[in-house]
Parts: sequence; C-alpha cells; structure tokens
Amino acid sequence: MTKNRTEELPEELKGEITPEKLIQSQKEDSDIKVISDYKNINVKPGWQDISRHGNKVKSYWNQWDSLEFRNGILCRKYENIPGDEITWQIVLPKALKKVVMEQLHNNITSGHLGIKKTLARVTNRFYWYGLRSDVEHWCKTCDICASKKAPQRKAKAPMKQYNVGAPLERVAIDIMGPLPQTKKRPTNT
Ligand SMILES: [Zn+2]
Repeated sequence: MTKNRTEELPEELKGEITPEKLIQSQKEDSDIKVISDYKNINVKPGWQDISRHGNKVKSYWNQWDSLEFRNGILCRKYENIPGDEITWQIVLPKALKKVVMEQLHNNITSGHLGIKKTLARVTNRFYWYGLRSDVEHWCKTCDICASKKAPQRKAKAPMKQYNVGAPLERVAIDIMGPLPQTKKRPTNT
C-alpha cells in the first residue's frame, strides 16, 4: 500500500512559516504564479505559452503532472524508489528559501549537518528548481561549518580516570553554542 505523507511542516519551521504564509508567498512568487494560475483552471499551457519564461517555469511546466494543490499549497509529488511512499513536497517560493535553510541547517536542533543530510532534510518537505545546488552552496559557504572543519587540531591528552575522595568533589559541565540570537534582544541596563 502506498503511504501518503502529510503536508505537516517540519517542527523547526512551525514558528517561522504558517500555511497561510506559504499560500500567500506562492502567490507572490512570479515563477510559481505562472504555473499555479494554469493549475487553478486545470489547463496545461502549451509550449508556446511557456517558452518565453525562464528555466524555473519551464522546469515546473515539465513536471505538470506531479504538481497539485494540497490544502491550497502547490506541492510536487515525489515517489520513493520502491514506490510505496509518496511525499508531497511544498513548492517553495524564493522568498522563503532563506528561512528554510536557516532552520533546517543552522538551527540548533539541526546542528549544521553536511550537504547530504541537509539535502535529505530539505527534500523531505520541500522542492524548488535548483534546490540541490542551493543547498550545496549554503553548506559550503556556512561560516560555522567551515570553522568546524578547520584542519589544525590540537593534540588531545589521552583520557584517563580521576579518582575523587567524595561525591561532587569534581563536577564537569558541557558548554554548547553558539546559539542563535532571539528576535527580542535584551537591553543593556
Ligand atoms: Zn553550517
């Protein structure tokens, strides 16, 4: 049986994007609008109507049969290789690319995963023309990823056991960061 994945937004994005915002943003995206206007009247345009548009529109036109509105959001049907699972990827407007990449790559819970894993997280819910190269570029130009890959690593002392005389004589804490800044910055008092 084929499983149909829902259009639920990833947890990290729930505070950032609402379905209403997605619908509005898709309407404001000039490339997506070309296709969704035709989808709304359920008429596939001919090549003569599309040829004057850019590669993005042409690519969406080529995938006409895979595109469908789901709860008012234009989605792309993506079937896995065994063919037992369908994912409805949200066709992401240009205006929302940055927030999606920030949340699915830079967010503290996303933890700056590498290209392959970031790509998997993004394609799990979204689709846009040029997605792969955009994700690659985002990861390659990420400052935090670059600093993590810094080649000169200091030699570490070998691990050893410390003996203590009493409970809590020695306490260890882990420090994490950098953390993203909140929108409301504390004022200096
Ligand atoms: Zn990164």
